[in-house]
Amino acid sequence: MKELSIAVLAGDGIGIEVMAAATQVLQAVAPRIGRAFHLQPHPAGAQHYVDAGESLPEATLAACRAADAILFGAMGLPHVRGADGTEIIPQLDIRFALDLYAGVRPVRTWPGLPVPLSDPRATGIDLVLVRENTEGLFWARGRGVVDGDAVCDTMRISRAGTGRVVDFALRLAQKRREQGRPGRVTNVDKANVFRSMAFWREIFVERAAAFPDVQTEHAYVDAMALNLVLKPWAYDVLVTENMFGDILSDLIASLVGGMGMAPSGDIGDQHALFQPAHGTAPDIVGKGIANPTAMILSAAMMLEWLAQRDGDTALADGAQAIESAVRGAFESDGVRPYEMGGRSGTADITRAVLERL
Ligand code: ATP
Repeated sequence: MKELSIAVLAGDGIGIEVMAAATQVLQAVAPRIGRAFHLQPHPAGAQHYVDAGESLPEATLAACRAADAILFGAMGLPHVRGADGTEIIPQLDIRFALDLYAGVRPVRTWPGLPVPLSDPRATGIDLVLVRENTEGLFWARGRGVVDGDAVCDTMRISRAGTGRVVDFALRLAQKRREQGRPGRVTNVDKANVFRSMAFWREIFVERAAAFPDVQTEHAYVDAMALNLVLKPWAYDVLVTENMFGDILSDLIASLVGGMGMAPSGDIGDQHALFQPAHGTAPDIVGKGIANPTAMILSAAMMLEWLAQRDGDTALADGAQAIESAVRGAFESDGVRPYEMGGRSGTADITRAVLERL
């Protein structure tokens, strides 16, 4: 039987709780599709930093490189900080180390669950944000220049770094059009103010010219924040700089009910990591109320990515099976997460998905 090795980095806080749900779901799917998943846990995170003095051991990074894919919970604890005052967040180190340049964050509404926006069209939200993951303002991490009472963080936008993520978004739009979605890319920038952003836009325009079949448009990030609340159903694929993407990811998660509904993939040319878009949620840790859906759907995204990498339709079937089980649990089994005012905790949601599988 074909075996796939998955590096599992549960991390901190609710990362550990939701990872337990996703690994159960993967193990339940495996025999149905005739594949085996070798899920190998590895230490990393803020608690590991406290315990062992390092947040991302070299051995863990090597295991991530060697694995077919990486499944990641969440990392960081508010009270654990480095000497410069910032949190211990090894997920950023992994993105840079493995060159996971495309942060793919899909959100969509699910029948049976409440939608925060009252406009009936909000039930049709189905969009993907592609966040550049390896430069932008996050390039400044660890490089901030302190000059007396002023500190400067620099935003880096490079031709190569922007070109590859824009290409990724344009290809994704082509794929979505084949699936019956609009297949349109909205470039989100701040080209009216920053030289770096004007350069980003120039590169977007250049790259888009090579995809004449993909409709494109431009938006400034501030207007985008407005329109994502006023008419999110009007968007299909968004592509943007790292920091803008960080902020808009949380905004779009709110459109479909909360962070627990937003999966993500950090994808490069050689490696890929899948994790919920949320953090460690210290305010709810240990209460059994974290919504594991984002983590479970991230596992489905991982199967979809592996299916494409290997041309293995059984893995795509596995991804579909997970999504159908999640859909059924919400639509027909009365499952409603706490973050949406319901009474279904982590174990209830996991059980409902497993029963459907
Ligand atoms: P980070 O900066 O590490 O991404 P964050 O500051 O965005 O983290 P989160 O940890 O994602 O913060 O939490 C934001 C809010 O969403 C918190 O109130 C948290 O309880 C809630 N939340 C996050 N994930 C979930 C989840 N899976 N289920 C329920 N609530 C969640």
